[in-house]
This record gives sequence, structure tokens and C-alpha cells, in this order.
Amino acid sequence: MTLQNVFPWILRAQQEGWAVGAFNANTLEQVQAVVLAAQIENAPAIIQVSHRALTYIGNGNEIQGLKYIAAIGKIAAESVTVPLALHLDHGTESEVLQAIALGFTSVMFDGDGLAFDENISITKRLCETAHSIGVCMEAEVGEVPKPDGKDYDESAIDLTQPDEAAQFAEATGVDTLAVALGSVHGLKTKTVSLDLDRLDAIRKRVSTPLVLHGSSGVSDKDIKQGVTMGLCKVNVATQLSQAFTNAIRDVLNKDGDVVDPRKYLAPGRNAQMEIVRERIQFLGASGKAK
Ligand SMILES: [Zn+2]
Repeated sequence: MTLQNVFPWILRAQQEGWAVGAFNANTLEQVQAVVLAAQIENAPAIIQVSHRALTYIGNGNEIQGLKYIAAIGKIAAESVTVPLALHLDHGTESEVLQAIALGFTSVMFDGDGLAFDENISITKRLCETAHSIGVCMEAEVGEVPKPDGKDYDESAIDLTQPDEAAQFAEATGVDTLAVALGSVHGLKTKTVSLDLDRLDAIRKRVSTPLVLHGSSGVSDKDIKQGVTMGLCKVNVATQLSQAFTNAIRDVLNKDGDVVDPRKYLAPGRNAQMEIVRERIQFLGASGKAK
């Protein structure tokens, strides 16, 4: 297949109470882990790449990173019979435009730090461009924190206000809306609860499909409940990197003489594939490719 806009699957997930998994990748092997898992599970899936991953892939040049990943994404999609989207995660305005031009089928504009009205006006403009060529557009209201290993103040999290979410969705025409319900990016244990009453209040005001960021830190019980309540794109990143890196660490710990990168990257890829499969099953997306 070619890369797909998987928005129709997200809408179906919303109606049927499951979620499309969106899996972050930083390396070729991490892309392949998602592709292999999606094919085995016969599931729609989203490969997503963050601003920092692009900078890494492009060796400091994020546009170069976008070009690399756009090419890899096209080949990845051609290798399977399930619908795969290539998504820009947390992009700036110029990254969103570049990604659209390079063939990404889904983009997220991160208006973090902008005034509410400015976030609306930029998102609306980007939506018009994305929709003119059939690209799915995501944006965020409130903020899921990105502490990057530093401390953060839980009480200061900018949780999504239902009224603002409704106003934002209406004014921008965005396809999917990321909401802040208490999750945090980059947490290594599943200890955070979601504000499910807030999710309920948002869902009563907003028909736009909702997105959970930071799922690696959220208890599975709350993710499951959130999915039945309308979270229909769930982002998974840290859990994948944990599986990938732990498998590599095992190989290197066992054999101090290993030199060939394939000897440790293949187990990393395989371990991540198993986690992606498990998450696809957990989110109820197995068998939903058609
Ligand atoms: Zn995120």
C-alpha cells in the first residue's frame, strides 16, 4: 500500500470504542518494529516521528530528518497490506508544512506556548493546507508536559478545559484533538491516573476524535477506560524505547565482544515489535485493518 490517511479508521474507532495506536520511532529498526507488528495484527497503525527524532535522524538538520523519514515511511507502507500513516508528532508550523510537502499523511501542530487565539489561527491555517491534499491534522488544547527527565509540578499541569476544547475544535476544523488529562510525556512506569471526569465533560462538548499523549506513564486501567470514553488515537513512545533498549542491553551484557550492530539491533527490533503487538491488541485494533 501507499501511505494512508488513517482518519477513517480513527472515526471508526471512535464509533466502536477502540483506538488506533500511534507509535514513535527514532531509528529504522523502530519504524520496522511498528510495520511488522501492524502486519501481524492486521491493524491500522501510525508511525510517528517527533521534532527531536527528526533532529536526530537528520544529524542536527530536522529538514534532512523529515526527508529521510518520508522516504523510509513510503517504503514501509509499500511492504505491508495494512493501512499505515506517517505522522509528524509535535511539529512547528514550518515542520508541518515541510512534512505535508514531503508526503506525510498526518501532522500535529504543537502550539505550546502560544496564546489561545494565536494557536487557533495558526492551526486553522495549517488545517486548510492539510485538508486541501487529504492530510490528517492534529493539534493540542492544554498541555501534556514534556519534562524530559526533569522534575515537573503536577499541580501546574495545564489540563484541557472543556469549553476551550469545544471552541478550539469548532474554530479550527482540526481532525483530531490532543487533550491533557494528567498524563506526562516520557514517564517510565505506569503510575499516572487520567482525569476521566474531565474526559467525559470534553466528550459531551466535542465530537472531534480525541488523542492521548504520554500513555507510557498511564495505568492500563485508565487507558482502557479512556478508550471506551472516546480516546481513539493513543500515542506510545517511552514503552517502545524501553523494550528496544533493554533487549540491546541484554545482548551487550551477555557478550562483551559483540561488534556487528545487527547482533544487537535485531533483538531490539524484535522486542519492540512484541510491545507494539501487545499495545495494538490492548487498544482493540487487532484485525481492524479492513
Ligand atoms: Zn506528545
